Amino acid sequence: VFRIDEQLNEKIDEAVKENPTPKKFEAKDFSLKSSLEKAEIDTRRMVDTENALSMEVLHEYIPATKIKGKEDFILESSHYNLYDQNTQFGVQIEKEFDFNFPDHLDIYCYEEGNKSGFESPKKSITDVYNYYLMDGGSVLPVLALDIKPGHKVLDMCSAPGGKSLLALQTLYPSCIVSNDVSNSRVNRIDSVYNQFLFDFEEKWLKTGKIRLSNMDGRYMEEYDFDRILVDVPCTTDRHSLHENDNNIFKPSRVKERLQLPELQRQLLFQALKLVKIGGVVVYSTCSLSPIQNDGVVHMTLKQIWEETNMEIAVKDLSPALLQTRRVYKYADKNLLRYGHLVIPQMNQNYGPMYFCKLKKIK
Ligand code: SAM
Repeated sequence: VFRIDEQLNEKIDEAVKENPTPKKFEAKDFSLKSSLEKAEIDTRRMVDTENALSMEVLHEYIPATKIKGKEDFILESSHYNLYDQNTQFGVQIEKEFDFNFPDHLDIYCYEEGNKSGFESPKKSITDVYNYYLMDGGSVLPVLALDIKPGHKVLDMCSAPGGKSLLALQTLYPSCIVSNDVSNSRVNRIDSVYNQFLFDFEEKWLKTGKIRLSNMDGRYMEEYDFDRILVDVPCTTDRHSLHENDNNIFKPSRVKERLQLPELQRQLLFQALKLVKIGGVVVYSTCSLSPIQNDGVVHMTLKQIWEETNMEIAVKDLSPALLQTRRVYKYADKNLLRYGHLVIPQMNQNYGPMYFCKLKKIK
């Protein structure tokens, strides 16, 4: 089972102790090609925020076994030892052909290659802003939820609230619970709702159409959701590339980073428990990391197979997503077993955004 167990936790502790401050990584040492040819980089030096994204991609796309001196390879590769890809267990994968676009939703983007920015939103006469700016990739997990009129929706990790707001803009949910483990981040959701929803307190909060919740998603126990979005904490690759403040690739956050897949698995597992039979869970990250993406879905499905009587079907949205190809560049589906991945391109600069749609059958 690809799960962080006691042993791996110990290994992480040991390695962090041995390398408390990794040496600065020299960018000139690094190129994918030369790394593959020489394969002799001291990977412990690679924990450096400036090059975080490219390095993580390197670590996670190159099977450790192909690299000479793999025993010295960065800890991420340890996950592969636990990610048993060959075990057969009951996963139903069903193709989905339709991608319903809610009638009331308006989403705007520029055409391919047009790199113009949007103006900042302005307040209208109702004193709320006229639109919410977000990465185009973030639209897809919400559309994949396929929210229908009257649905009760949980956004398990929802701060600052962009995807919850989008779900609300379909005008379909009868109730949306916007949850986040962090109190200060729940306050941010509150502030987004106040800025973008007319008469938030009276028309949305007091009527129960929106509930703000401040819980650890792993321990939530409300069982009647039709749709659950699990937009997990992840390495936020685009953000990590541009922002040094509190960057998840900082040496001081190594342990937290390495434990992300375990946290992600627990959140997804809980969501699949909470959703109604016939309901849909969408798991999403804004990372390119195969471990945090298909890896987490894989280990969650395996856990469900081993420990519960639930039956989960994975929805292969490839046919449905064909209609969005003019806007998004997707990773080759042959490289992904369960989900879909929007890859940033110069001309279609959205994402990264991984999403996987799961339906609870039993
Ligand atoms: N869905 C949000 C949006 O579109 O605006 C972005 C969510 S962000 C990627 C992940 C969020 O998960 C963070 O706000 C973080 O505080 C929250 N989080 C982390 N651990 C959590 C947990 N155990 N339970 C619930 N939320 C958690």
